[in-house]
Amino acid sequence: MTTTVCRQCNADTMPLRLGRLEGEEHGVHIVIEGLPALDCSNGHKRFPTPEFPLEFIQRMLGDEGLITAEPAVEKGLFRKRRLCPDCGTELSGEPNGKSTHQATVDVPDSEAVSVELSLPVQNCSCGREVTLPKSEVERGVMQAAANAFRSAEIPPG
Ligand SMILES: [Zn+2]
Ligand SMILES: [Zn+2]
Repeated sequence: MTTTVCRQCNADTMPLRLGRLEGEEHGVHIVIEGLPALDCSNGHKRFPTPEFPLEFIQRMLGDEGLITAEPAVEKGLFRKRRLCPDCGTELSGEPNGKSTHQATVDVPDSEAVSVELSLPVQNCSCGREVTLPKSEVERGVMQAAANAFRSAEIPPG
């Protein structure tokens, strides 16, 4: 393995695993534990590669163990309506529950990272548990993760 030097001060960096990070956005709550990072002797942290944060978010979004609630179907251009994907009933009001799942997400060259994801859900009258439309789930996960990364004081890229 090649030694990487800190981009801010040129000191040698050491790999480390980050502790528990939390972030929230739009009712989407995320807890990430064990992200790999590099740390120099002067305390500058960064991710192993500039692409790592986005790749990690994409791995979370692709994990079927994390996102299990069915996304609502979104209809309407000006007044957005959310419909149950099973029976087509319009879901009125705001999501009133949470669907929380835990999974380990594989990352290159490191041990798997533990992730807990809570999505806002609503029960349809047919019994189906429905979450936000897919685009909103993706946006929420992305922003919640970005907020979690920010709490570790890692500069983006
Ligand atoms: Zn440094
Ligand atoms: Zn339904």
